[in-house]
Amino acid sequence: MADTRRNPLAGARRITVLGSTGSIGCNTLDILDHCAEPFEVTALTGQSNVSLLAAQAIKYRAGLAVIGDENLYSDLKSALAGTDIEVAAGAAAITEAAARPADWTMAAIVGAAGLRPTLAAVRQGRTVALANKECLVCAGALFMAEVAASRAILLPVDSEHSAVFQALDNTVCAGVEKIILTASGGPFRNFSAEDLKTVTPQMALKHPNWSMGAKITIDSATMMNKGLEIIEAFYLFRVGVHQLDILVHPQSIVHALVYYCDGSVLAQLSSPDMRTPIALSLAWPARMQAPVARLDLASIGSLTFQPVDEGRFPALRIARQALLAGGLAPIVLNAANEIAVAAFLGGRLTFNGIPALVEKTLEKTISGVSNAPVSIDEVLATDAQARRIADEILGSMGAAMAAA
Ligand code: NAD
Ligand code: MG
Repeated sequence: MADTRRNPLAGARRITVLGSTGSIGCNTLDILDHCAEPFEVTALTGQSNVSLLAAQAIKYRAGLAVIGDENLYSDLKSALAGTDIEVAAGAAAITEAAARPADWTMAAIVGAAGLRPTLAAVRQGRTVALANKECLVCAGALFMAEVAASRAILLPVDSEHSAVFQALDNTVCAGVEKIILTASGGPFRNFSAEDLKTVTPQMALKHPNWSMGAKITIDSATMMNKGLEIIEAFYLFRVGVHQLDILVHPQSIVHALVYYCDGSVLAQLSSPDMRTPIALSLAWPARMQAPVARLDLASIGSLTFQPVDEGRFPALRIARQALLAGGLAPIVLNAANEIAVAAFLGGRLTFNGIPALVEKTLEKTISGVSNAPVSIDEVLATDAQARRIADEILGSMGAAMAAA
């Protein structure tokens, strides 16, 4: 099936990368280097890395480069002086960039900050490659309704969801009994509850299999990442919460498994390299050559699987409860987690304090969170309020949490 929503007039495919300076953004540009078809870059955006954004904009002859931090506008302007690349700054300018006509947009901003720009891209009704899972956690039903209304093609880039997308063969979920997302288990898979008390940001930032941005690396270590991914899968694949499960698979080779009612299980395997799902989303419904290590199963030898220990890693349980509670709870979960991860990285919260802060924030807000959000403005207002509450709790946790 051909993607008929490409710009029929231009020969080159118009591409925008939101969050081009991040881990997924850089991998996306690397994959574009291997793209056989002509393309032109409409816009690139980053939050604070001016020199990288400017270098990318020059290399890819971007029409527009946007830096999120408004204070860095003049730095970017000088870095791009003498070029005809348009320069802008600020959150609204990122959303405006996302709304400029593009045939394919990579949504790779981290966190709820990616919601408005990603929606602006969706509203164009073309193809959006979705790496930003927080969009779906915060605004799942509203977001998917916007996708349906605009007739955009939404292609999951998160490796497990890309795997499910492939194992579902792009068909409806008929006959699907269960979807299992795998988890590497992170660097602390074998840590005792006692050991987990000693985890520092430096230790948590070293993921055994994947090279990723700081926030998702910490989410992987706490296993909140799998909680966010269950919510992401719930909205993407429209199965029941109880049909979604996680299996720890330390080798990160099998990314997801789809169980069918006749006993078949389809899985997708690949080396742990995000350039494979990015290439899939760029070439879909075809395939393209990607410069990734080919899977050598004989040298890997064995693939192992085990259940998640939710006693040591409570984040998955907390996320599942937030999904089951529904309403505004997933927004609160995500906002509190963003505050908790930033506090941990800043040395203001222990590793075990991350799920504890998220749970306390949910407990404090849960009585008022039963109705589903009716608008994106309500999602963002709830997000902002949950951040304030999480900050307050963080302040009051003080010494008690430092000792947790
Ligand atoms: P990253 O931190 O490396 O990059 C994030 C990008 O977003 C950067 O370009 C940064 O400048 C930009 N950004 C940060 N804050 C912003 C803000 N407030 N406004 C606008 N832009 C902002 O993160 P990443 O690892 O590339 O992850 C990006 C997204 O993809 C996340 O949602 C993550 O969960 C998801 N994801 C990443 C991976 C991975 O392997 N890195 C895998 C699956 C899913
Ligand atoms: Mg993932």
